[in-house]
Amino acid sequence: MTVVEAPAEHRRPPSVRRIVTPIPGPRSIELAARRAAALPAGLTSSSGVYAAEAADGVLVDVDGNSFIDLGSGIAVTSVGNSAPRVVERATAQLARFTHTCFLVNGYESYLEVCETLNRLTPGEHEKRTALFNTGSEAVENAIKYARAATKRPAVVVFDHAFHGRTLLTMTMTAKNMPYKYSFGPFASEVYRVPMAYPYRWPGGPDNAADEAFEQFRLVIDTQLGAGSVAAVVVEPIQGEGGFIVPAPGFLRQVADFCRERGILLIADEVQTGIARTGQWFACEHEGIVPDLITTAKGLGGGLPLAAVTGRADVMDAAHPGGIGGTYSGNPVACEAALGVFETIQTLDLLARAQRIGEILRAELAAIARDTTLIGDIRGRGAMMAAEFVTGADHTPNRDAVAEITRYAQDNGVLTLTAGTFGNVLRFLPPLTISEELLMEGLGVIRDAVARI
Ligand SMILES: *Cc1c(COP(=O)(O)O)cnc(C)c1O
Repeated sequence: MTVVEAPAEHRRPPSVRRIVTPIPGPRSIELAARRAAALPAGLTSSSGVYAAEAADGVLVDVDGNSFIDLGSGIAVTSVGNSAPRVVERATAQLARFTHTCFLVNGYESYLEVCETLNRLTPGEHEKRTALFNTGSEAVENAIKYARAATKRPAVVVFDHAFHGRTLLTMTMTAKNMPYKYSFGPFASEVYRVPMAYPYRWPGGPDNAADEAFEQFRLVIDTQLGAGSVAAVVVEPIQGEGGFIVPAPGFLRQVADFCRERGILLIADEVQTGIARTGQWFACEHEGIVPDLITTAKGLGGGLPLAAVTGRADVMDAAHPGGIGGTYSGNPVACEAALGVFETIQTLDLLARAQRIGEILRAELAAIARDTTLIGDIRGRGAMMAAEFVTGADHTPNRDAVAEITRYAQDNGVLTLTAGTFGNVLRFLPPLTISEELLMEGLGVIRDAVARI
């Protein structure tokens, strides 16, 4: 095997916040005009700035503005953008071969990614992993495995869920606008139950777990019939839905119920998985061992890679040739993922994610002391959010979040929003961000909140 040298000087932009033009700058505005002429209207970007380079905690735009990145491209570049080990491994692989199609010729890196996920995912049982390109594709395939293994049709999902944008996963996603509006008819055999959302549970946060579980149980036992349900699919912390951490104990009751009824529990860890929450997988916080786990966002260090990992007997139920895809488990993306695993281990990013979570929680709590706008602070590790409201009845305050986001961007901080009501400010910093930069970014958020 020829060993190919990675680029000797992998230049990284300095970790600073520096705004040198109005936002967006002139070059970004030029590109926006080309975009309007060449791209369809339905394809949007939440920030108007165009990227030139990025590393760890910063993104530099085409006008030379350097932003603190508190979003990681939606929880993707958890090990930092263009992380050195990801770049080295992917670059070397690019020069060896770019593609064979794993369905035609295998390669070792694919096996190594699967072996690693089998080892890292919760549970001591025998496991198998299959690779795909996107989170949606992983969720779609998890359903195919579950149906093949159980010979049952129905899929149960939750309020506020996000599972993707393909026909089946869009159907599984809760929110109408923008994800479903005008795109029906939807896939069949998808049923929705309440989520134990502590902050908005009608019976109060302390009753959320038991009452939501009772409704879940009733829908399955009295309306669907457990014998018709292939799988329950749940995000251990709901992502796009607003970083909703299910009330303590809810997931455990759901998991136990599924096991009793022969229903497969699928944890959609596309956003929460791969060290984001301070554990390799968010279901570990609740001691849950799902039958299948989907991963994607943080897995490939920015290259498209997704996986379904699960019980060997379930995964083996799909017949030979039934599962696959032309690009699935691309060799460059597999090498990138191996670089991600190495980086998480060598830099101890599980501990970093926990530390970032402590900082985020403490700083958001400090900001909340000076305002009535923040109704709830929640999340785990480097996946933390504040829900913005007005009044004692917790009316969602979407405008406040939009204003904060705009102010932050104008002042060199990139943040993301989320939530069924669009009123959640979410933080997903790269796990390699320095504490100084994180604190500086949160200082800008504090100023933004103070201005409202
Ligand atoms: C982003 C996301 C998906 C969809 O992943 P894509 O790569 O965009 O298809 C699915 N599930 C969850 C929980 C996600 O956060």
